[in-house]
Amino acid sequence: MEKEIVSTGHPHWNVLRIQLDEELRIQRCNGSLDITERILISLPNVDVGATLDFLIENEGRCDCEILHLMYAINDSCY
Ligand SMILES: [Zn+2]
Repeated sequence: MEKEIVSTGHPHWNVLRIQLDEELRIQRCNGSLDITERILISLPNVDVGATLDFLIENEGRCDCEILHLMYAINDSCY
């Protein structure tokens, strides 16, 4: 299978959001993308680099900002 970017509507989008939410309850964001990257690597058929680029372009420059933008993007869908 081809590697895909995890963006809004992708089946992994909610998986990433839920796992990131759980991780950030356990450990604080350290200003990096480490947790997001680790989750993306654990998911199948993900283009990790391109997904991180997508998130950074949408103001997700660290793990907590990514979680925030994931909720913001989802909220605007309803
Ligand atoms: Zn942060």
